[in-house]
Amino acid sequence: MNGRSIQFGELTLSPLLDGYFRLDGGAMFGVVPKPLWEKRAPADERNRITLGMRPLLVTGEKLMLIDAGAGGKMDPKSVDIYGIDRRRNLSHSLAERGLAAGDVELVLASHLHFDHVGGFTTRESSGEIRPTFPNARYVVRTTEWEDATHPHERNRASYLQEDFVPLEAAGVLDLVDGDAQIMPGVRVRWTGGHARSHQVVMIESAGRTAVFTADMIPTAAHLDEPWIMAYDLYPMETLAFKRAFVREAIDHEYLIFFEHDPKIAAGYIREKARGKYVEPVMCD
Ligand SMILES: [Zn+2]
Repeated sequence: MNGRSIQFGELTLSPLLDGYFRLDGGAMFGVVPKPLWEKRAPADERNRITLGMRPLLVTGEKLMLIDAGAGGKMDPKSVDIYGIDRRRNLSHSLAERGLAAGDVELVLASHLHFDHVGGFTTRESSGEIRPTFPNARYVVRTTEWEDATHPHERNRASYLQEDFVPLEAAGVLDLVDGDAQIMPGVRVRWTGGHARSHQVVMIESAGRTAVFTADMIPTAAHLDEPWIMAYDLYPMETLAFKRAFVREAIDHEYLIFFEHDPKIAAGYIREKARGKYVEPVMCD
């Protein structure tokens, strides 16, 4: 999918790639037994499955990036634990479209876990950490900022302060309350579930809707209602959201962008007698 984009009404949608990483397959599918999930997502010798990191570039009134992958700040031990493979990363993805970090004007976070916002900041050779996108404002939901900067034992490993605290120091952070419109055609929608203030991004133009589902439906393998990550802090919220949202997505033909699918960047959710499935629109 190198350099490919989808014209979506007046907006252009470009799924980018910040490489791949690996997480425990059991943690990714919660209560679903391994004999079932490994048919959809084969595990390596450490029981990990491969996931993509796919930020979405929206070209509209401004050049907007939604999430930014894990970025390059991780130490070698974490790179090994998470099997991070960024041989193809966000800067390559931008370059394929003739863009550089300085072109991005707006950066939006679905939530502040490291696999979504590690790329928000970069460590200089001097050791200093600065915003990766020097000309961008960074938009974060207020309550997510509060949770991320006050982590507890259950979410501390996911919120790495160096990913987002430097944004405040640099004066580029915009905290936004509620389900706000971020730019024309782009608004956020609260889901809860994965984190108290996790949100998806609704993209609407010319009567069509696309949705960046972040960690609510991280891969096409997570469509079925009980296939919920063990990482989720509020799994019953995830269940309720998915139940309503998947119906809505089928009925209104939402174009879904899967942030963590190892192959499918975008697709439509369809329904047959034997169940729901994803019809891919853009794959690696
Ligand atoms: Zn994630």
